[in-house]
Formats: sequence, structure tokens, C-alpha cells
Amino acid sequence: MRDVSILGSTGSIGVSTLDLFDKSGADIRIVALAAGRNVALLADQALRWRPQVAVIEDEAGLSELRERLVGSGVRAAAGRQAVIEAAGMRAQWIMSAIVGFAGLAPTLAAARSGAIVALANKESLVCAGPSLLRIAKLAGGAVIPVDSEHSAIFQALEPHNATHVARLILTASGGPFRTWTREAMALATPQQACAHPNWSMGAKISVDSATMMNKGLEVIEAAYLFAMPPERIDILVHPQSIVHSLVEYEDGSTLAQLGAPDMRTPIACAFAWPERMDWPAPRLDLTVQPLTFDLPDLERFPALSLAKQALAAGGRTPAAMSAANEQAVAAFLNGRIGFLDISVVAAETLERMDRHNMISDVGGDLLEGAGAIDAAARRLADEVAQGLKPRARA
Ligand code: NDP
Repeated sequence: MRDVSILGSTGSIGVSTLDLFDKSGADIRIVALAAGRNVALLADQALRWRPQVAVIEDEAGLSELRERLVGSGVRAAAGRQAVIEAAGMRAQWIMSAIVGFAGLAPTLAAARSGAIVALANKESLVCAGPSLLRIAKLAGGAVIPVDSEHSAIFQALEPHNATHVARLILTASGGPFRTWTREAMALATPQQACAHPNWSMGAKISVDSATMMNKGLEVIEAAYLFAMPPERIDILVHPQSIVHSLVEYEDGSTLAQLGAPDMRTPIACAFAWPERMDWPAPRLDLTVQPLTFDLPDLERFPALSLAKQALAAGGRTPAAMSAANEQAVAAFLNGRIGFLDISVVAAETLERMDRHNMISDVGGDLLEGAGAIDAAARRLADEVAQGLKPRARA
């Protein structure tokens, strides 16, 4: 019996995690479920799984959550601090699947608890990768990647041969606009951007996949997780999303991990590691479609180069870029800017922050510093978005 918690239980990854537990009959006990605003789904999950505590970040949802959980024995809590406290509760395995910067503080609390942190929340790695990994190690836990590409590399990277790795190759589906012209992309709607051809995901990561910022964030993730210099991380567009990533060794061998595009498989890998678990997983039929690979188009997807520049600049630059991007994605989803403006806003925000030394000047401890950068980048991103010429908008 393992004690587990799920942070972001009502999202795409959270729901997949619970479904995996259901389908595999895993011997688990849930300590905490945490969500943002979806009280109804959180309460349903809590009634089904009977955690010690169910936490809703949005305090306005507390009374409804309490009502729905009356008589269940599940404690209801609300607020940002309650989410962080739930993340720090003693558990052996914690799924970190809150979306965006909001996931950082809970993920750090989970890492400090010494649990195994199954990390889906890529933004926390991008914002504070080296510190997060150090904290987990010092606490006696581990961070196991859930992102399918990093799960693939995690599986293909032989620890005893880590010094013999020539390069990491991240695959990218290319997203819904892989074959679109720039003119068509300029007019893309949120609905089109969220319609990923292979994966069913939350809105933010779906838009990131459409701009390919998702792959840029993943390059940063890979650099931190696997201590790999940026120039030894390459990207290949692989529209079928079957080969999830590859590790090339110095002797010319390249090891790849393959699987159906279903997040329950990398979640299962992170849950059972270092073993494997049995569940009715979708199986691959490699005879049904050819597997193709291509180089990414850096002109139509400038977010890729921006992320690499942010990684090369180091320090808190990736955190600033991630925050600016998050704000720009929200503006796009709200219809305030066009699709191509997302990368423009992220790049311009970073450029202004750099010009005014706004990144290097930030002090404070890990969370304070990250919070200050996040807030400054979001303010500036809003300003940049507001100043965009209407012609650039869809
Ligand atoms: P979703 O948008 O589907 O879900 C996000 C989850 O976070 C929801 O449970 C949401 O709650 C919760 N949440 C949002 N804000 C807060 C907050 N302030 N405090 C507490 N909880 C909050 O996202 P995904 O599941 O798609 O993605 C989650 C993370 O995993 C992201 O970082 C993403 O990049 C990463 N990831 C996702 C993949 C996927 O296939 N979906 C693949 C690889 C990585 P509520 O809905 O109740 O508001």
C-alpha cells in the first residue's frame, strides 16, 4: 500500500492519474487531492477516493466543497497556503500536475517532504530546476519526469553510461499548425490552437504545443533534469507522436522509447519506477503508419529559439520567459491578442526585462525571487500585449 497525493487532480494529468489507479487496481491510499476551481469534480473524486484532505485553491469554493463532502470523513480546505500544506503532507508518491507557475510552491513543498515527485508541472522545473532537484535530493526523495519526452529519455538514458551520451533528441508532434502558413496561423482561434492532433491536454499546454513553446520549455526541462548543455539537445518533428524521444550515445547507438500517445503510460512509468506496472495499456501497432521525422521550422515557430536563448542566458531568465509566455497564452485564450502575438509578447517582454536589468536585479530566496520575476514579467507582458498594433491581431 502506497500513500499518494495528486496536485491538480481535476486537470487532464490528474484525471489520467486517477484513471490509471482505477484501471490498474494499484494498491494506494490517497492522502491529498488538490485543485484550482472545479469544486464539483474535486468533490466527486474525494467521495470516490476518500483522501485525508481535499483542497480547492479558490476560497470561494470552500463552502460548496464542505457541503458536498458532509459525512464523508474527508476534510475540506481552501486557499493557496492550504494547497502548499497538502503538498507537504507525508506521502510516498506525489503527482505534481498543477498548471503553470502556480505549481511551483506546491512542487517545492512536495520535494521538501522527501516523497517521490512525479513531475508533470514543467513550469516549476523551468523556473527553479536546479534548486528543485537539489531540494528533492537533500530530502531523500526524487523527481521523476512525467512529460512523455522526458520520461522517454529517463527510460533510455543508462545511468552508468551518462558520460557517454552524445546528445538528447526530443521529438515534437509539431502541434495543430505544423503545416499551416504564417498567414493562416495569424488568424488561428483558441479553439483551433487547442485541437491537438494526437494528445488530449489542458488549454495552456495545448496552446504551448501550437506555438511550440512547449518544446522550448521541454528543452530547458531536459537541460536541468539530465544536466545536458543546450547545444547537445536537438528537436525533431515527429507528427505521429509514437517515438517520444531518443538518446544518442557516443558509439553511434541511439535508444528510443516508443508508446501510444497516452499520458497514462508515462504516469505508470513514474509510479512504478524502478519497476513496471501492469495495466490495460493501449498497445502499439507499428504496421499501421509510417514514422516520419523532420527538422522544426524556426521561422514559423520562433518560440523554440527564444527558449534556447533563455536557457543560454541562465539564472532567472527561463522563469521570466515562462511567466511572459503564460500571460500571453492567457491573453490569447481570452481573445485579447492573436496567435502569432504570443511569441511576440514573450520575446519583447524578455528583451525589455533584459534591457532594464530587471532579471539580474531580483534578489530574495528561491520562492520570493521566482515570485518577483513572475509578477514583473506578467505586468510587462500585459503592457506589451496592450501596445501591439491591431494589424498583428487575428
Ligand atoms: P489542466 O489545465 O488540464 O489542469 C490543471 C490542473 O491544475 C487542474 O486540476 C486545475 O484545477 C489545477 N490548478 C490550476 N491553477 C491552480 C492553482 N492556482 N492552485 C491549485 N490548482 C490549480 O492542465 P494539464 O493537466 O494538461 O497540465 C498540468 C501540467 O502538466 C502542466 O504544467 C502541463 O504543462 C503538464 N503536462 C501536461 C501534459 C498533458 O498531457 N496534459 C503532458 C505533459 C506535461 P481546476 O481545473 O479545478 O481549476
